[in-house]
Order: sequence, then C-alpha cells, then structure tokens
Amino acid sequence: MTAKSAAAAARATVYGYPRQGGNRDLKKAIEGYWKGRVGADALRATAAELRRTNWRQLTEAGIDEVPTGDFSYYDHVLDTTVMVGAIPERHREALDADALDGYFAMARGTQRVAPLEMTKWFDTNYHYLVPELGPDTRFRTDSRKQVAELTEALELGHTARPVLVGPVTYLLLAKPAPGVAEDFDPLTLLDRLLPVYAEVLADLRAAGARWVQLDEPALAQDRSPAELNAAGRAYRELGTLTDRPQLLVASYFDRLGAALPVLAKAPVDGLALDFTEAAAANLDDLAAVGGLPGKRLVAGVVNGRNIWINDLSKSLATLGTLLGLADHVDVAASCSLLHVPLDAAVERDIDPQILRWLAFARQKSAEVVALANGLTHGTGSLTAELSANRAALASRAQSPVTHDPAVRARAAAVTDADARRSQPYARRAAAQRERLGLPLLPTTTIGSFPQTGELRTARADLRTGRIDTAAYEERIAAEIREVVAFQEKAGLDVLVHGEPERNDMVQYFAERLTGYLATRHGWVQSYGTRYVRPPVLAGDISRPEPMTVRWAEYAQSLTARPVKGMLTGPVTMLAWSFVRDDQPLGETARQVALALRDEVNDLEIAGTSVIQVDEPALRETLPLRAARHPEYLAWATEAFRLTTGGVRPDTQIHTHMCYAEFGDILAAIDALDADVISLEAARSHMQVARELAKADYPREVGPGVYDIHSPRVPDEEEVTALLRKGLEAIPAERLWVNPDCGLKTRGWPETRAALHELTAAARTLREALRTAGG
Ligand code: GLN
Ligand code: ZN
Repeated sequence: MTAKSAAAAARATVYGYPRQGGNRDLKKAIEGYWKGRVGADALRATAAELRRTNWRQLTEAGIDEVPTGDFSYYDHVLDTTVMVGAIPERHREALDADALDGYFAMARGTQRVAPLEMTKWFDTNYHYLVPELGPDTRFRTDSRKQVAELTEALELGHTARPVLVGPVTYLLLAKPAPGVAEDFDPLTLLDRLLPVYAEVLADLRAAGARWVQLDEPALAQDRSPAELNAAGRAYRELGTLTDRPQLLVASYFDRLGAALPVLAKAPVDGLALDFTEAAAANLDDLAAVGGLPGKRLVAGVVNGRNIWINDLSKSLATLGTLLGLADHVDVAASCSLLHVPLDAAVERDIDPQILRWLAFARQKSAEVVALANGLTHGTGSLTAELSANRAALASRAQSPVTHDPAVRARAAAVTDADARRSQPYARRAAAQRERLGLPLLPTTTIGSFPQTGELRTARADLRTGRIDTAAYEERIAAEIREVVAFQEKAGLDVLVHGEPERNDMVQYFAERLTGYLATRHGWVQSYGTRYVRPPVLAGDISRPEPMTVRWAEYAQSLTARPVKGMLTGPVTMLAWSFVRDDQPLGETARQVALALRDEVNDLEIAGTSVIQVDEPALRETLPLRAARHPEYLAWATEAFRLTTGGVRPDTQIHTHMCYAEFGDILAAIDALDADVISLEAARSHMQVARELAKADYPREVGPGVYDIHSPRVPDEEEVTALLRKGLEAIPAERLWVNPDCGLKTRGWPETRAALHELTAAARTLREALRTAGG
C-alpha cells in the first residue's frame, strides 16, 4: 500500500457509542428520575456529562469525527419519532405538558395510556419502539435534540457528525397505528416525511454540521422494487436540496445488495458499508457498480457488534482494495458500538491470556484509529500494533480454550442418525401415551414460576457470602416444594420445578459449561434502562457435570405426576451470547448441542419422562436476508435434534417459543421433530394454531391461552373460548393447555388465580368433549 497524500488522509469515525457510562450511570439517573429521586435538571446534567465523556474518550483515542445524536434517554427510533413529530394521539397531551415525561410515557406507558410497541432492532438484541403511523399522520419537524447535541459537541471543540435514522428505514420500521387498516403501508408517507428531513438537515447545517449521517440498515434487508424505488426517490430529493450538509448514507448488518446501485446513483456525498461479515459481497457489488466515483466511502471494517479483536492485516487488505473503488476511504466500526460493552480493560476476572482477544467499544475505537493511520501512512507506521495483533490472534487460534481435541473429535463424528429420534413420531406418541397416561387436553406451564424478591435476595446473599451454599440450596428446595405442591393442588398434569435456581435462562447454563466466560461489567443495552451482560462463548464447549439433574430429581421425588425437565436450547444459547467468530456458527451450535444432549440423556436416566428444550430465539436469529435462511435453519434445526435425538421413544420432548410471527419458519418448527410445542398465542387469538394446522403440522401443540405479559387474570370463560378456537384447528388428542410463556416476571397472586382458571377451563372442556363423544 502506498501512502496517500495528506489531503486524502483517511478519517477514523464511529456511528454511535454505548450510552450508559462506566457504571450504568444513565440507567441509575433515569430510574431515579422515574422514582422522583432525581430531578429533571440533574438527569439532563448527567446525560450531558455522559455525552461529554464519550466524545472525549473517542477524541482521545484518535477518532477524527465523533457522532452526535446517538445518545438517547431510551431509544433512538423513539427520538426519531419525536424529531418528525409522529406522536400518537394518545400521547400528545403528556408530551405537550412535559417533553421529558411525555417521552417516557411513549416509551413505557402510564396508568392511562399504552406505550408504543417494542421490537428487536434488526437481528440484534437491542429493542426499539415501533413508530405508529396511519394515513392521517402529519409530520412536524422538531430538530431540537439533534441540534442541541451537535452544538454541545462543536462547542467542546470536536469535529462532529450528527447521525439520524434515515427516512426510508424509519418508515419501514413503522407499523399501522391502532385503528388503522392492517394493510396500510407506512412507506406511502414518504413524500410527507421528506420535507421534515429537509428541515432537520437545514437546521443541522445552520448549527454547523458539515456532514450528516442517515442510517438505512433496512436497505440491507431484502427489499421489493417499490421499496428500492422509494429509497432512490428519497435520496434524489434530499440530495438535490440546496441548503444541506454533505450526506453520508449508512448501511450495516448485511450487504447493501440491490440498494447499492440505487444509492451509488443518488446525489449523496458518501456511503457507509459493512465490510465485516458482508465484506466479500459488498466488495463484489461495489466493483460491479464501478465503485463510487466522487463519493466518500466509509468502510465498516471493525465489527461493531461482536467483542473480538479485529484482524488488522485482513482489514488493511480490504481497505487497500477499497482505495481503488472510491475517491476517499474512511474507516469505521461496522455499526454503532451501542451493541457492545464499553471497556474490556476493566474486566479483572478474565484470564489475561483471553482478555487480549477481546475488544469492547473503547478497544474497537482504537482499532478503527489504527486502521485509518495504516491506510493513510502505510502499514509501516503500524508495525508495533500489527505484531501485537498477530500475536493475540495466534494465541487465540492455538489456545486449548478454542481447541479441545475431545470436543472437536466428538463434533466431527456426529452422524445423521444422532440427530434423529430412533422412531417416527406416530410410534413415539403411542409409547408416550402409554407411559404418561395423560388426560385429554393435558395442562402444563412453560417452566418458570415467579422469581420473587426473596429468591433474588437469596442469590445476592450467596454471592456476597451472607449465606452459605447450604442455606441457599435449602431456600431453593423450599421454593420447589411450594411450586410442586401448588401445581398438584391446581390440578396441573405435567408439572415443572419452577426454575427458582436460574438467574437467567442462558447465563445459568453458560456458568456451567466449559468454554463460556462471564464479564463483570460487560453491560449492553437491551431496551430503555434494561441492560444485559451476555456471556461470552469463547471456546470449545463441554459439560463438566450435569447442570439440572439434581433439582429435577428433587422435584420429581415430591410428586407422582411427571415433572418436566427444563433446558435452554442450543440456538438460544448462541443467540443471547457473544459468540466466537473463528468458526461457522453451525459448528459452535453443534458443540453446544452435544453438551446439552448429555444433559437430556442424564435427565432421562434420572427418571424424567418429559423434557422441554426452549428455543425462544429460533425465529429472531433468522438472518436478515432470505438467501441465508436455508443454511441457518439447517444448522439450527440439526442442533435441536442433536440435543434431543438421544432419548427413548417414550420420553416426550417438548419445545417452547415465544413471539407470534411463525409464518416464515413453519417448516423449521416441523423439522425440530419435537413431540410437543408450546407457543405464544393468547393475544393473537390462537392464530398460530391455525397456521400450524394449515401447514399440516402433525404433532402436539400447546398454543398459549394466558397472556403472561400483564398481571391481568383471564377467567375460565375466556380460556375456554380460546381453547375452543384452538380445537377448531388442532384435534383434542393433540392439543395442550398452557400459558404463553414462563411466569418468572409475574407475582404469585395472579399466577395462582390464572392457573386455577386454566385448569378449570381444561376440565370443563374435557367434560364437554366426553359428553359430546358419547
Ligand atoms: N422455560 C423458560 C421459562 O419458563 C422459557 C422462557 C422463554 O421462553 N423466554 O421462563
Ligand atoms: Zn416464552
């Protein structure tokens, strides 16, 4: 690589940074504000201080252009809703009375008004608030937040680039407002929305913005010709404005694909593309459109959503190729660093040999800077960094942590037969009926019972040493006794132990599997003030000893009814962790599946006749682009079958998924070959049951009849009505009766009441079926 002239120096930039601060300061301030302990001014001051700290960190690391507007009190899509004035009618009053309280009311609801719906931001674990739009939506510009944050950064002396959710993505993320026809297409509002963006751009220009970034990740998904047309129109219109800053249109999470030629032709000044996982595809597509003459290309070569160090030499090679394809190449992380924890350097409990493989937001910013320097001044200027990077990568590649010969040999020896039950479903179903002797419409729950404050306190006390393991375990045992006794009294048929020992359904297993690590401070925003600390799946996975058998056995010893064993499935274990990037996901999934398979088999040996393997993340992990679905579904379903394939025909395998949109994975659900599946269905009035029936799903189904998301208790009639709906789709011999999901977030009073109604409804209906059947 040759050194470029000074005028062409590559700039280092990022699109966003963790918002919470080093001690989750933002969470504390906001929750304090909600409780009335922190005043609005104090909250604003904390927020401003956090922004200042972030910009200082970035600038000191050598980032040339810092982002502004990426900060949020709750969510950047909600901020965009405020910016364009798309305030739902029901929230107007609160917002007019007080901007901050009205904002939080939209995010969280109040006694009187429902919040906006929340859903996942593309295929990440971040949740955004879904804009509600309709034919009557009138947009109105409110650029105050964006202008104020830019002004703050400029006054502090930073070179700053406001980052906005782009208009096309904003509309594609929206849904019809309540009361608006289901088939209303928010994209039809584009012409009304563009003038608002034009005003925001003019305001930012007036406030001193030279560049503004418009994020269009929705264009990295499969898009129809009409949608691509809309994107072309949007950027033609914004690009030909006279009073505007330079425009950088950013895409990430996948290749830009068919949207690339559209944006390449548009009169915008730069494009930002993801050159991590989609590197090869984006490089090919760029070459195919003849590069980006006259435009700035921002190359996202540092993965913004995993926690691994970058391969600097490889990135430099990519950047070198890109120099031939655009007038000017800058360097960035592939997406906002919001998706990774703040700083790996504060992790004291991780083996230093492994810590050197990790890069969180601070380390990633430094990598971006190093790469920009390498691009500008040639690799010669990076000798020290490159050799340290090579050494760290080599240590990872050769480590026994990432290469356990026993795990590798076992995974390599897996055969098709391992991932298949020994008998077809019909034979198994007969054997299970015989063994379990369950009534028609058997009742069960999804696994967890209320995680009471007491349980959480006991866990905290154990951690701090206030109680010893024996005392903690007695507390858990007592809880299991109570949960089992209650279920017997309520008349449930297949019981659960209630999962009181599990802090979290992924973390619990991660802590017990070799190859996983935990961070102390690795918080990542899930939504609003909720932060999670995903475990790090760093190496080859094995199970040193049984993880759930002891409590399962204990619970079973308390009752003659079957107690379901309860495990988190391999796909969900991957989906809610930071996963290693040095081998295909399918291989990692297979290792996890084999470890879980041992657990399933041990549960069976211990006498468990029903075992549930939860896969709530199966749907959400679906790759953004359809072309990648088959490969994903193949390894995902194989991993599930490998987990469950080793049991006897008369052991009943259940699975559970939440979420209501299954349409696109029906075939995969079938391919799991689970004997029983429970699904969320109450709010959609059993729609899932109808969809499964339409697809001729042959096995047993428990569409949820009790929405566990609120404390509201359904009454028997309501449950009966839902069950009757279920029976229209699924024959009684294959229909189960259960809630939508686990009960861990519920309190005991409503749980007791609701489950009594649920079993009563099942009894009533069984009786009715008996009389009708003669
Ligand atoms: N078994 C888990 C529970 O009951 C399932 C949770 C989930 O589906 N997210 O809590
Ligand atoms: Zn669930």
